[in-house]
Amino acid sequence: MAPRIVVAGSANMDLVGVAERLPLPGETVLGDDFLMMAGGKGANQAIAAARAGGDAVFLGAIGSDSFGVTLNARLAAAGVDTAHVRTTYGASGVAVIMVDRAAENSILVAPGANSTFRDLTEAEEGVIASGDVLLCQLEIPIETVTAACRAARAAGTRTILNAAPARELPADLLANVDLLVVNEVEAQTITGSAAPDMAALLALVPRVVMTLGGAGSRYAERDGRDEQVPAFPVEATDTTAAGDAFTAALAVAWGEGRDLMEAVRWANAAGAACVRKLGASSSVPTRAEIDELYN
Ligand code: ATP
Repeated sequence: MAPRIVVAGSANMDLVGVAERLPLPGETVLGDDFLMMAGGKGANQAIAAARAGGDAVFLGAIGSDSFGVTLNARLAAAGVDTAHVRTTYGASGVAVIMVDRAAENSILVAPGANSTFRDLTEAEEGVIASGDVLLCQLEIPIETVTAACRAARAAGTRTILNAAPARELPADLLANVDLLVVNEVEAQTITGSAAPDMAALLALVPRVVMTLGGAGSRYAERDGRDEQVPAFPVEATDTTAAGDAFTAALAVAWGEGRDLMEAVRWANAAGAACVRKLGASSSVPTRAEIDELYN
């Protein structure tokens, strides 16, 4: 049976404008292209978990505007259970993204409804308790992430925190994290050190996966293994969403009861399959695409 992956996090409408170059402050530039995509780390990871073969459920808040309707529809179309998504009066989260020809970007995020996702209901806690794995990121209020991880721990649901975007983490959140997924910048921010310090991270949580871009990843556990897991060699076209594809695949594999080293290797295949293609949530690989690289 597919593992149940509960993702509690953000959903944004990504409004992407493409131009020859980015406008300077006060300047208007005529662009070439415009597209709208579902985004936000929560929605991305829920979609990626469904594509990787998980029974994915999304918990979060979207606005009462037309973006909210579109976001709900895109999550549902990807096979994500949206029955418990909150609709709050007002604007959905929006990311206004400008990209130039060299793929340099400027991004402004207006969190909208995401910032209203507070005070978990009994029904939401019930969904968390029904999961094999709870997966969170840091684009919703930190109190909600903390409460979700606490509810998961109380119910015996394993917790994964993808600590992005980088920030320091409160002790009452760390106390309920079973597996921390970070890149090197996030690792440094959490421990306040000048270089990624695995030992310092393992003093805070029992298991850590560090993503290393084209170098793959590193898995370490307290008083146990600490191993580098090489990347799958692919031609990188666009690294957008690689971290989301990686983290979601890791959650699915762990939820299936696979050993974590093997789960990390499979997640590396998901990240590699993602960077081969252009796009954000559209480039997130299916289970078949992950397996094809992995095997
Ligand atoms: P993001 O850049 O999406 O915000 P991140 O910094 O956590 O997130 P990366 O470390 O860039 O993500 O990538 C996640 C995973 O994807 C890596 O651990 C690796 O397995 C895979 N990956 C990324 N870039 C490449 C690459 N060039 N070749 C092969 N695999 C890659």
